Amino acid sequence: MPLAHIGHYIQGSPVAGSSGRTQDVFNPATGAVSGQVALADTGEVGRAVAAAQAAFPAWSAMPPIRRARLMNRFLGLLNQNKDALAKAITLEHGKVFTDAQGEVERGIDIVEFACGIPQLLKGDYTEQVSTGIDNWTLRQPLGVVAGVTPFNFPVMVPMWMFPVAIAAGNTFVLKPSPTDPTPSLMMAELMKQAGFPDGVFNVVQGDKVAVDALLEHPDVMAVSFVGSTPIANYIYETGAHHGKRVQALGGAKNHMMVMPDADLEKTVDALMGAAYGSAGERCMAISVATLVGDVADKIVPMIAERLKTLRVSNGLELDAEMGPVVTAAAHQRIEGYIASGVEEGATLVSDGRGLTVAGHESGFFMGGTLFDHVTADMKIYREEIFGPVLACVRVKSFAEGIDLINAHEFGNGVSLFTRDGNAAREFSRRVQVGMVGVNVPIPVPMAWHGFGGWKKSLFGDMHAYGEEGVRFYTKQKSVMQRWPESIAKGAEFTMPVAR
Ligand code: NAD
Repeated sequence: MPLAHIGHYIQGSPVAGSSGRTQDVFNPATGAVSGQVALADTGEVGRAVAAAQAAFPAWSAMPPIRRARLMNRFLGLLNQNKDALAKAITLEHGKVFTDAQGEVERGIDIVEFACGIPQLLKGDYTEQVSTGIDNWTLRQPLGVVAGVTPFNFPVMVPMWMFPVAIAAGNTFVLKPSPTDPTPSLMMAELMKQAGFPDGVFNVVQGDKVAVDALLEHPDVMAVSFVGSTPIANYIYETGAHHGKRVQALGGAKNHMMVMPDADLEKTVDALMGAAYGSAGERCMAISVATLVGDVADKIVPMIAERLKTLRVSNGLELDAEMGPVVTAAAHQRIEGYIASGVEEGATLVSDGRGLTVAGHESGFFMGGTLFDHVTADMKIYREEIFGPVLACVRVKSFAEGIDLINAHEFGNGVSLFTRDGNAAREFSRRVQVGMVGVNVPIPVPMAWHGFGGWKKSLFGDMHAYGEEGVRFYTKQKSVMQRWPESIAKGAEFTMPVAR
């Protein structure tokens, strides 16, 4: 049987790729190729942008409440198709089905937020800024905007972007990760069914060629990116060079600091989920446990014990706790990091290498790995591994822990486990990280709060979704108005001031 061809979605219809370039898509649980995704060339990207550009005038002129009603219909369809989307995620990403359901749910939150767009676009008005003059500000959409997204959340991360952008009156071109491209086409189909006009939401599959075509296209006004830090940096610089507005969210190395007064049983539960859930392939995964005082001697054996019963299997099996990692290349890269940790002298407490799952011998599986006595100069501490590997760093005090975290080049998420309110307050205030959890291991902000890290975890100033998302996808205009009755006679040559 020929392999499924995964193409684009342009101008309200699925379109097969025509560049002649494709990439294999795998089921990570079996290791088998499940399809081939088209890799767009510049011409195909141009057609998607042209469709979006053609749809923009009518779409941006539609009253926001009518745009919101369409978004509301999309919301209904998403709820009906939640499990189908989750299954499609598991088949190409590998994460366990219940985790994929959670991903879809968090994406749906943003669609609900975007349904409130009339309120979010409401401007400010001041009567009588000077006698007979009123001043108001409003926000207008930018035009065609693009989103470039990573493999690890093929539904949620695109939904950080397009519902807000489209509700605000923009038209959108999504360039998803070629690793798990199918959910993007399902979302496009649901947008069509919801009644969005053709061209408002388009999908081009592809790699660097497609991304560069978007970055260079004069009709693309803004680019939202989520992915690794080197590419985020590249997108930010190249987009800015081409005069675009850019928000580029990058990689992470998220610490969980554990104070001696923390409830250790509950902390172990939190660490297990946050370090090994989704095989550690979350930008908000905890990859470093910063253990204060005597915590390490108690908690490291507890984590090691729990790792022995971590259920690793095909994500479609409902009792699975952790699925495979995403590709054979990721598997190899993560094993390389484990080897480097051993070479650099960290203590390998639990080794996830060499795990096979019966019946899935060719799947990209590995077990959870735990390192103790990791130090700040080691590669496994400095770099993002993006796999199920937890590094424990021992610190003597709260202050040393904060200094360690603040010295790291990434600043995406962080968490503190404690019972001490003052420690929690000081931690939240002093830590140089964009998203902070207190006894919350993965503090992904809710839809109306906005998501974004600091330092090398975010290039640009606006966070994704929430009110900053609305600001990113709109530009402010200020209007001052008076009527002839209020205009005094005679030319004024001085700077106008309030009278
Ligand atoms: P990636 O950077 O390899 O790819 C992201 C996107 O960029 C994909 O669409 C890809 O096709 C494209 N791309 C890849 N190489 C490119 C190049 N040379 N030029 C132009 N475009 C290119 O990331 P990934 O492996 O898909 O995702 C994992 C990474 O994403 C991790 O680093 C993770 O921390 C990060 N991430 C960050 C957040 C966040 O909110 N900060 C959220 C999710 C994932």
